[in-house]
Amino acid sequence: MIRIDRPPAVPRVLATRGAKKRAALLAAYDAAPAEYDARRQKLTFDGALYGHSSVKRALVDAQHGKCCFCESKTGMDGDVEHYRPKAAFSQAKRGRIEGPGYYWLAYEWSNLLLCCAICNQRFKRSLFPLADASKRARSHRHHVTHEEPLFIDPAAQDPEEHISFRQEIPFPVGGSRSGKASIEALGLDREILNERRRDRLKHLQILVDLVEMEPTASAELIPLIEKARILLDECTGDAAEFAGMARAAVKAGYFLR
Ligand SMILES: [Zn+2]
Repeated sequence: MIRIDRPPAVPRVLATRGAKKRAALLAAYDAAPAEYDARRQKLTFDGALYGHSSVKRALVDAQHGKCCFCESKTGMDGDVEHYRPKAAFSQAKRGRIEGPGYYWLAYEWSNLLLCCAICNQRFKRSLFPLADASKRARSHRHHVTHEEPLFIDPAAQDPEEHISFRQEIPFPVGGSRSGKASIEALGLDREILNERRRDRLKHLQILVDLVEMEPTASAELIPLIEKARILLDECTGDAAEFAGMARAAVKAGYFLR
């Protein structure tokens, strides 16, 4: 996971049609709050609106086409995901699903991220644990600023302060509680990610070995070493898949020796 710079300009479809939908949701909730709190009634959402191609395109551009959590490339095939879940929430993995969710943030630009289907649909779902569940905003009348979410919001925090890697395996920096919760609940150490990151490390290792040869390299090797250096910069740049791991590896020298 790496920091995401979501541009401040709100996509037009959210500022116009999204704002109208939000007003309708608030009115619906206010008409029967107890029904929605008990989940006897459910609010409905327009996926074509928050998932509009212009919204997704803006997120793809801001996130270099990568999942906000696992840094797998998704491009336009990723989901537009709600950091605070719109329709329901649960405090723990096998905990009770409660209502009504953060419906007032369903079309809110600051709540939207691009996410791969596995992180979103298999792991995160309605899960949104807080350090203190009693501080949860249960309706639009409450303030989310009182909450302390355990999931890292990569558009608001620097994930690299909370999650680093030993070789391909993520770990919470200094025992970070949100780092630990994010790794465990979002499955950031799932086997397929570890495997793909391990493959990436093997390539990085060759580049690092080449760059380290420079002081004693013969003249004919210098152009190759230059190319390796450029490629290494690309692999550790924000646009690269698994950039968080690549940066940690280069910084700490965690390679597969
Ligand atoms: Zn993912």
